[in-house]
Amino acid sequence: MNIHEYQARELFAKFNVATQPGSVAFTPEEAEQVAAKLGGKLVIKAQIHAGGRGKGTFKNGFKGGVHLCDTPAEAKDIAAKMLGQVLVTHQTGPEGKEVAKVFVGQAVDISSELYFAILLDRATSAPVVIASTEGGVDIEAVAENSPEKMIRVPVNPSLGLMPYQTRAIAAQLGLKGKLMTQASKLFTNLYKLFLESDCSMVEVNPLVVTATGDLLALDAKFNFDDNALYRQPDVVAMRDTTEEDPREVEASKFGLNYIGLDGNIACLVNGAGLAMATMDIIQYAGGTPANFLDVGGGATKDQVFQAFGIILGDKNVKGILVNIFGGIMDCDIIANGIVEAAREIGLSIPLVVRLEGNNVEAGKKTLADSGLALISGDDILDAAQKIVAEVGKAA
Ligand code: ADP
Ligand code: MG
Repeated sequence: MNIHEYQARELFAKFNVATQPGSVAFTPEEAEQVAAKLGGKLVIKAQIHAGGRGKGTFKNGFKGGVHLCDTPAEAKDIAAKMLGQVLVTHQTGPEGKEVAKVFVGQAVDISSELYFAILLDRATSAPVVIASTEGGVDIEAVAENSPEKMIRVPVNPSLGLMPYQTRAIAAQLGLKGKLMTQASKLFTNLYKLFLESDCSMVEVNPLVVTATGDLLALDAKFNFDDNALYRQPDVVAMRDTTEEDPREVEASKFGLNYIGLDGNIACLVNGAGLAMATMDIIQYAGGTPANFLDVGGGATKDQVFQAFGIILGDKNVKGILVNIFGGIMDCDIIANGIVEAAREIGLSIPLVVRLEGNNVEAGKKTLADSGLALISGDDILDAAQKIVAEVGKAA
């Protein structure tokens, strides 16, 4: 799960991470009011679940999702150009994201921009700090062209980020004296935030040294581990479903793991590993998957029904492959869910079903007796080849 920058700032406050004053605005008038309260030079930032806003462009031609200005009237004017408009950045894809709120903050006199992030390193199964003196809007290019400028410090999860490490990172970032003290504290607090909020990533880019010699976190991008959300009610309260794929939001309501993709063969599978294998085998058979969908190890008839609804809500879907291994699950329950869904929805595209495992004979019988035009797959490859062939025929 992701949150907006203005929400990440609430976590900054809770964990004593220094940042610039400011708050969120939903209308140009609110932006003007916030600006008037703040006084001085201002920054207006589009709030979307994607980075690269500074270098982004709105579909209406307005350039940049981050703007500096001097007066509340200008703040209002800039907010009016952003709100309700679609911002395209290198992270949003060409479709972009509609801006429904802006952050109005105090502009900071920046002396240098650094990069600081903590993420989970899958290779070591432990947190790792990534830092760089070359922070700012071109960090991707730095990582690509000058990887030696990216500092990597692995963290031992049972020890946490140690004080000697925070000082070493600060030193490598060229921070001395008061700045080193501030940096050590800030890194320690960010690590605490990362750990206690069950983040999979906290990224501060830029972390700035101000003209007055202070350290401030000016931008924040956080990701959270979805599997830990059950114990993070404050984080869940920040969820903004308007930023997510509507199909994924719908699926999550029914406890389904769904990720929309660009292909035309939908798959309905139980278990993430089998779902991955099914997507692979569709590709192997010459097709392209329309989604990843894991109904879970113990899916109910109702979940299967809902899953069909979500799959068929995607206009690109030209065929469905159901691939179920009945381990915990009873194949007949799945078969009943399929038949009920296919009847109610009036399925008009090819459907190939491969069932294996617990109570498979009863499941196959339910499908065969249904009178529906289902195609049975003998094994996973046979099923994939059949659905690819059917979709090919229809096209
Ligand atoms: P993004 O990463 O989405 O482009 P940032 O918040 O990092 O958005 O802003 C982009 C750039 O805008 C920063 O690298 C910094 O140079 C500038 N900037 C951001 N916030 C401020 C601020 N409060 N004062 C001055 N400049 C800012
Ligand atoms: Mg940034």
